Amino acid sequence: MTATTAASAAYIVAGLLFILSLAGLSKHETARAGNAYGIAGMAIALAATVGVATRDISAVGLTLLVLAVAIGAAIGLWRARKVEMTGMPELIALLHSFVGLAAVLVGWNGYLSVEAAAGGPVLVGAEAGIHSGEVVVGVFIGAVTFTGSIVAFLKLSARIKSNPLVLPGHNWLNLGALVLFAVLTVVFVAEPNLLVLSVVTVLALALGWHLVASIGGGDMPVVVSMLNSYSGWAAAASGFLLGNDLLIITGALVGSSGAYLSYIMCKAMNRSFISVIAGGFGNEGSAASSDVDYGEHTEISAEDTAELLRDARSVVITPGYGMAVAQAQGPVADLTRKLTERGVDVRFGIHPVAGRLPGHMNVLLAEAKVPYDVVLEMDEINDDFASTSVVLVIGANDTVNPAATEDPSSPIAGMPVLKVWEAERVVVFKRSMNTGYAGVQNPLFFRDNSRMLFGDARERVEDILKAL
Ligand code: NDP
Repeated sequence: MTATTAASAAYIVAGLLFILSLAGLSKHETARAGNAYGIAGMAIALAATVGVATRDISAVGLTLLVLAVAIGAAIGLWRARKVEMTGMPELIALLHSFVGLAAVLVGWNGYLSVEAAAGGPVLVGAEAGIHSGEVVVGVFIGAVTFTGSIVAFLKLSARIKSNPLVLPGHNWLNLGALVLFAVLTVVFVAEPNLLVLSVVTVLALALGWHLVASIGGGDMPVVVSMLNSYSGWAAAASGFLLGNDLLIITGALVGSSGAYLSYIMCKAMNRSFISVIAGGFGNEGSAASSDVDYGEHTEISAEDTAELLRDARSVVITPGYGMAVAQAQGPVADLTRKLTERGVDVRFGIHPVAGRLPGHMNVLLAEAKVPYDVVLEMDEINDDFASTSVVLVIGANDTVNPAATEDPSSPIAGMPVLKVWEAERVVVFKRSMNTGYAGVQNPLFFRDNSRMLFGDARERVEDILKAL
């Protein structure tokens, strides 16, 4: 068996492992196995790629390659150990930007080593045209992913404001950039040259930046998964250029699963994908809603909350981003156990975009060993709130905002939310009356059946545990 056939066989195995990994990651129970398949697939893919490379490159090149992999692996391990769950989305956004940058570099390298090779173009006829097409498309998708992901990283890590940037005619700017890209692609394929490729690169860098800068607030989850999808297509484009089948398969898997996740999230937020891309969300509403007088809120102590829970038949906990910030999942799991032992029916209601990453809450609760069967999706629990004694809203805000269903002028109007206000009593754990991620005031806090339990969510849950 030649090295190339061995590598092809290894690539097929790795491709299958990646498919198994995606299947595993789609359920709590199999997520751990899914991760293991992914790691195994990537290890095989790396070994096979390095194996093939050893035939074609010099000893110096190989040393550089091994060194780069070692340095990358060390940085990756260090970051993965250090990152907080709350910092995951921004880390993912940053990693997407690397995929984008890699695709740009592969594209440029393809151009320099084929179309602009020292001894004249390496390919001729249709093959040359296809190669040029791959170069220009790869560079374009890669550059859009690169700057788009950097802006997403800056927004998610609060290094820049999450408000949408609204330039005059911003949709026309995006559309114009796409049309220009189509024209430049035709020009480049007909006559590959440095100037056109440079213009495409700059155009795509600017488009990526503008595209994400003009999307704000509550639409960020869709942006993250959209960029995930772009990074997949960028990798697939690199795969075509490099003639690497595994990169094509992996890129297509990431590209399509990211696109499908974006679609599911848009559906969960009752928004069309086009309107998300067109941006502008979260701009008008935050200012408008801050003028409204919702009345007074009522506070409650941890001891009184414990009293409420003692008398409750059924309790639903709806966690959000604040539970992650407070790292309250451990005490919340203890509270669940304690109440269940007392015969209280305790369940969790998870909004699809609670926290800062799809599945964020599920991961935290799984880490704290909350049984999977009491952790329900929004659709599974939304009709049960009316018959629930107490809802504990732990660090959630936008995802439990009744304005989404009741106020058509709200920036989050139409977003499906957890109907916690239908319960007999709602206790909201947060530190202040500040708004959540979308910057919208929450009328839930001022309802007659709502009580505010102020302070750090972890400390307050621990106080309740003591009182119980
Ligand atoms: P929100 O961001 O709406 O609200 C979080 C709440 O937690 C805040 O009101 C904050 O109030 C409170 N909080 C913060 N720290 C603590 C603490 N230590 N103790 C107690 N409370 C705390 O969160 P949700 O989960 O309800 O909604 C998620 C939002 O994030 C949505 O708008 C969603 O669109 C967006 N988003 C979601 C992503 C995803 O994929 N899941 C990705 C990007 C954005 P206070 O400051 O007063 O304590």
